[in-house]
Amino acid sequence: MSTEPTLLRYMTRFRCIAERCEDTCCTGLKVPVGEAHLRKMQEAVANSPEDAAHLHQHLLTNPGGPLSERAFIQMRPDGHCPFLDTERLCALQRRHGEAVLPDICANFPRVVTRWGERVEISGTLACPEVARQCLLEEDAVEPEPALALSQYVPRPEAARDVRVDGEDAYTFHAETVRAALLRLVHRREYPLASRLAMLGQLAHGLDDFYFRGTESFQGEARAESEARLSEELQRFESPEVLEAVHQDFGGLSLPGGPCVGLFTSVLKARMATGRGERFTTLVRGVLESLRLDDDSPADLDAAWRTYAERWHRLEALHGERARLYFHNYTLHQLWRAPFTDTPSLLEYVFRLALRVGLLRLTLVGHLRVAELCLTPSPTAGSQEQLDGAAVETFQLLAKHVEQAPGFLTLAEGLAGEGRSAETLGKVLVFAAF
Ligand code: SF4
Repeated sequence: MSTEPTLLRYMTRFRCIAERCEDTCCTGLKVPVGEAHLRKMQEAVANSPEDAAHLHQHLLTNPGGPLSERAFIQMRPDGHCPFLDTERLCALQRRHGEAVLPDICANFPRVVTRWGERVEISGTLACPEVARQCLLEEDAVEPEPALALSQYVPRPEAARDVRVDGEDAYTFHAETVRAALLRLVHRREYPLASRLAMLGQLAHGLDDFYFRGTESFQGEARAESEARLSEELQRFESPEVLEAVHQDFGGLSLPGGPCVGLFTSVLKARMATGRGERFTTLVRGVLESLRLDDDSPADLDAAWRTYAERWHRLEALHGERARLYFHNYTLHQLWRAPFTDTPSLLEYVFRLALRVGLLRLTLVGHLRVAELCLTPSPTAGSQEQLDGAAVETFQLLAKHVEQAPGFLTLAEGLAGEGRSAETLGKVLVFAAF
């Protein structure tokens, strides 16, 4: 297997747009400070009593935490970093240089992951410019060799490690399994919903022997389990198998009201934690356009019908464009978020389907999309408007929902534990949404 660093093509095009950015990276994020940088920061401000007091006041130390999280920067109540100055620049960097920044600030919005010997570079959609580059171009999520790593990432050494350990079958076979998932997502002759169902079926087939901490690959059982893994992956290369999953899945009729209730409660819960004006405006718009914004008991089935009709309309007007956003998002997620972070592949696919469902509801509920769907045919500038709404939706959810502890706990609870068929059933419900 190649050890050459790779990066996703859109990251070769990414440039921070600084003062033209509709957001800022210095708000709404959790900023851990590693031990080495904590010392560097403290030494840098030592000669300035004012800076030292400011730093002391806004650092929450985490003495028992991992080396990479020995402290956190405590954000202001409005979510902004306390070091963000009136010109929207970092006061620490301005006064003490780039070297003093915590790794996450120096590398943001780049995401660096080390799979064994190999480094991969992607980005976080929490940055609007990354979201634009990633979602709107056909070839955005193609991997490329990254020969001069430092040209793309200020601190490649701050990579997250996916330990690939010959004794741990889950990580040892992870690249092969991910390659199979990527091939399935590339089968664009099928709707994304069917491809998610295929991922779910594949993960379900592996669920009883391939998971974190599995002992099925130990000792004499190893050869048999490896053969079974390879057989299962191979099965999902077969056109007949894919067609059968597509047909079975297409025949399912699933109620969408409960999904609307779940997704809107996630959005409302995040809005209630004060995530800033852009997020609040987006969520209020979604609730208003689906008529879920007043105090009367919510008619979720009516909201579901509105959603379904509008999605249908969006497909008719701008189907190709809308499909591109979700295709790129799904591929990107497989690159950017290693499935080995979750206890099982099925749980990972479940979370992916949940995210896609939430994004679909939010995009379709976006006020600008609702307006576009009222037009009889695409108009000049309508694709640009749709792109703008999509970038805003994917970026704000990446920043304010997808990594929120409450959302992750909810996803974990919903996925259930040890009930593979039930989890697969939920994957299908969200995929169908
Ligand atoms: S969010 Fe992205 S584009 Fe905006 S200032 Fe930060 S890095 Fe630059």
